[in-house]
Amino acid sequence: MTRYRDNLDVLRRAFPQPVSDQEHDAWFVFSVLRALDRVDSMKSQRPVLGEPQVIDFSKAMNSRVPEGMSTVELVSRDLVDHLAGMFIWGHPRAQVNVINPPCIPGILGTLLPAIYNPNLCSEEASRGVALAEAEVVSMTAELMGYDPQRSGGVFTFGGTGTLLYAIRIGIEKAIPGAMQNGISGEQPVVVCSDQAHYANKTAASWLGLGHRHVVTIPTAPNNEIRTCLLESELRRLLKEGRRIACIVATMGTTDAFGLDHLEKIREIRDDLVREFSLDYVPHLHADAVIGWAWSVFRDYDFAKNELEFPDRTLRALAGANRRIRHLNLADSIGVDYHKTGFAPYVSSAFFVKEGKDLGMLARDQSTTPYLFQSGDYNPGRYTLETSRSGCGPMSAMGALELLGKTGLRTLLGHLVTMAETLRNRLTAQPAISVMNPENFGPVTLFRVYPDGVDTFEMPKLEQTNAAYLEQLHRFNDYNRRVFQAMHSEALKGEGVVISMTDRFRETDYGQPVVALKSYIMSPFSDQQYVQAVVDSVERARRQVAE
Ligand SMILES: *Cc1c(COP(=O)(O)O)cnc(C)c1O
Repeated sequence: MTRYRDNLDVLRRAFPQPVSDQEHDAWFVFSVLRALDRVDSMKSQRPVLGEPQVIDFSKAMNSRVPEGMSTVELVSRDLVDHLAGMFIWGHPRAQVNVINPPCIPGILGTLLPAIYNPNLCSEEASRGVALAEAEVVSMTAELMGYDPQRSGGVFTFGGTGTLLYAIRIGIEKAIPGAMQNGISGEQPVVVCSDQAHYANKTAASWLGLGHRHVVTIPTAPNNEIRTCLLESELRRLLKEGRRIACIVATMGTTDAFGLDHLEKIREIRDDLVREFSLDYVPHLHADAVIGWAWSVFRDYDFAKNELEFPDRTLRALAGANRRIRHLNLADSIGVDYHKTGFAPYVSSAFFVKEGKDLGMLARDQSTTPYLFQSGDYNPGRYTLETSRSGCGPMSAMGALELLGKTGLRTLLGHLVTMAETLRNRLTAQPAISVMNPENFGPVTLFRVYPDGVDTFEMPKLEQTNAAYLEQLHRFNDYNRRVFQAMHSEALKGEGVVISMTDRFRETDYGQPVVALKSYIMSPFSDQQYVQAVVDSVERARRQVAE
């Protein structure tokens, strides 16, 4: 035997066996088990794995590809070690951000494609996994009120990808032939609210429009776009002869779960098309990467309230449903199963109301002949990506099938109940002002003040009166320090890890307002951990000198 053949024998054991070998399977599963065991030993009462540690990137620069081979066992250890310091999103003491803990079928949906490596580029390379994509697209389309017979959808690389698709289709509608000829003359514009995600700007600049051509419209205190200002701005743009590539309604803003009035936006768009006799219909996209999951309440009987949600929860769910149930009025919708669908990253899909809209993105068939010779389902003709992982749709399918509408209603209802409880308890504290009291989602934004500040008046004065600039800065800083104190306590396993947003909104005079943020996403969240936030704020206040 040559030396390379010896190596090969060793390496073959490090791959799943192509033909049934139960002994080897057992060893494979055992390797997974060993890895999980090792992760388990990193768990404690704290919401982090292992010891919180400072990440030393300068050390990373010394990393090199090793000369020799290693073993599954050794590599597995190293991989697990890299999880040290990770927040456990599913821990009830973690209320950090809109990051959901994935459920087990969601995880299997990532593991199985990782073993068999389907490529959604074509049906040939993905077979039944392509079917899973088609199934999840139909399920979700119907859930959101689209007609699955007419609509279409495709998984992509994140919420940002869904916006890229939406704006690209919008450009094609506003400037037919741009796929082929590019854009000459003045750039078309994207219009969204000032609370819309920065991914709108990312997409606009990567598509060659430039940040400058994203027009942002002010929002109301509840973070929804001011539709009257949207209307006047659209009219102004159209009068100037500008073309509108896309109007983006944000259906669940990232920081505060603000929901735009999609029904009204659609009405404004349709009226303007008539008024200006436009030769195209400006594309209307719903960035519902967060809000889509609330579609499960479209057909919930709120009067009967079968799941017996508390009154306040019911009101919040109905409040969100009031906006979300109109998702089907949008020409396209972005969905992140990895944000509110309990699937792991990356699991996002872009939906169009009219499936044929995706055809606008198709490349000339002659440019990619080698991949699309068989099969009926060839999303690779119009997707931005060539290779596409099967993990997104398989994870989404795992989660949706496990939960069903009842499971999603139960989980979302619970998260909202916990957030409502938190808002209630925070509101009862004289030193705290809840900044989104009318909110319908699982996120709570609040500001903490030192003793003696009138917390009924101060937030209003800070927001509206430039004479309070100095106080604003002082209390912004105070909130940062309260956050730091809470954070170090949480890492010791006592409080709760929450987060801080440097600019949850701007004051009327253009200054950023800092707020603390609790985003409850864990199915394990419960009353005592809600109280733990309140207690932790109080301890932090005592610790932080004004
Ligand atoms: C998170 C988010 C995005 C970006 O989505 P990714 O999946 O993180 O790429 C876009 N829009 C909104 C409203 C978001 O909250």
